[in-house]
Amino acid sequence: MDILKATELQKFNNIERQGFDEEHDMFRQSLEDFVRKEVIPHHDKWERQKMVDRSFWEKMGQNGFLAPQIPEAYGGLGLDDYRYNAIIAEVLNRSGCSGPGIGVPVHSDIVVPYLIHYGQEEVKKKWLPKMADGTAIGAIAMSEPGAGSDLKNIKTTAVDMGDHFLVNGSKTFITNGYQCDIAVTAVRTDPQAGAKGISLLVIETGMEGYSKGEPFEKIGMHAQDTCELFFDNVKVPKTHVLGDLGQGFAYMMTELPQERIIVGACGLAAAEGALEVTIGYLREREAFGKPLSHMQTIRHKIAELATEVQIGRVFVDRCIELHTQKKLTNISASMVKASMTDLQCRVIDECVQLHGGYGYIWEYNVARAYADARAQKIYAGSNEIMKELISRPLWRG
Ligand SMILES: Cc1cc2nc3c(=O)[nH]c(=O)nc-3n(C[C@H](O)[C@H](O)[C@H](O)COP(=O)(O)OP(=O)(O)OC[C@H]3O[C@@H](n4cnc5c(N)ncnc54)[C@H](O)[C@@H]3O)c2cc1C
Repeated sequence: MDILKATELQKFNNIERQGFDEEHDMFRQSLEDFVRKEVIPHHDKWERQKMVDRSFWEKMGQNGFLAPQIPEAYGGLGLDDYRYNAIIAEVLNRSGCSGPGIGVPVHSDIVVPYLIHYGQEEVKKKWLPKMADGTAIGAIAMSEPGAGSDLKNIKTTAVDMGDHFLVNGSKTFITNGYQCDIAVTAVRTDPQAGAKGISLLVIETGMEGYSKGEPFEKIGMHAQDTCELFFDNVKVPKTHVLGDLGQGFAYMMTELPQERIIVGACGLAAAEGALEVTIGYLREREAFGKPLSHMQTIRHKIAELATEVQIGRVFVDRCIELHTQKKLTNISASMVKASMTDLQCRVIDECVQLHGGYGYIWEYNVARAYADARAQKIYAGSNEIMKELISRPLWRG
């Protein structure tokens, strides 16, 4: 069973994927080959060690699979076509390998854009080439122990000391946190100014006073090195400010839609992978003298799930197309995030059920997919916050 091949689901309907051309398909295929060789065989080990190997990042970089949008002037491929980023997220998540599945999109689709859009030249020159070749890993540090959904309420401070800022505070739940070399960090530079007192700084691992917690014991995503970051009088040069002081919250609101569409796309791909595996299982597993796939209720259940996933695929591909054209609205991005992560959890829950007891055993792909999926409804703006964002304009004026 090749989890990366969407043969079963797509064989019997003629809805072609929209918005991708032959070059995208070739790129997808070469990444699939890479994932079969360099990801799937190692993921058990990465889960045990609570992080992926650094060599994985370097191999991704060598093959052009990290942040392909980084301009050539900064050592990247200069592929300013979001569809390549979407393909990378999709293939990694379809494989069921959630360590790189979420770590890579955070690095490529969330951290890199902040550097490209708002970074000062010195920081761009130093870090973008390394983020392209995988010798540096990026993280985004917004959430704090006392502020997640309510980002305006962050407490980490950065006090202006003339030629540098002095940073104090902590961040929590940071994806890629343990291994990251840089963290785009939201800090309060003006305690009186509410959202307008928030700025973004690039904080480098190794800066004096900066330390990290051990990777959390999570219910899923075991190969993801999610952890806390601590800042104790960390001196951060002013060249590390992203954009203008006091604009951090506005920048986050501008960049978050990309985070949301990618999380939605990851969710759908994970659901597709789990469904594919489940169809294969039902064909093999026998009960009452025949394969489970011969039972009508089971066939109908798969028909329903396949239909829901297909509807999701059409919506996600259309949103990817719109985002590539820079036309995707914040509302649509929130809709993709909330609907596809809900779909992911629902579909995978059914896949576990269809596996019976084996669906609850860790070595089975669907068991991991079930545990991995749960965080998707919580981060990148919880699904409740997505509903707030979707509903607000509907009742305005
Ligand atoms: C595995 C994982 C990885 C993560 N990675 C990162 C990362 O890389 N960087 C980062 O900065 N953060 C990260 N996070 C943190 C994540 O973004 C937050 O957990 C999330 O935003 C929710 O914040 P919170 O945990 O403080 O919950 P709270 O904000 O306390 O929310 C608790 C509950 O209340 C609900 N709620 C809150 N406000 C409202 C409202 N106005 N209306 C209705 N319901 C509401 C929420 O939806 C949630 O159900 C990660 C979290 C996890 C679990």
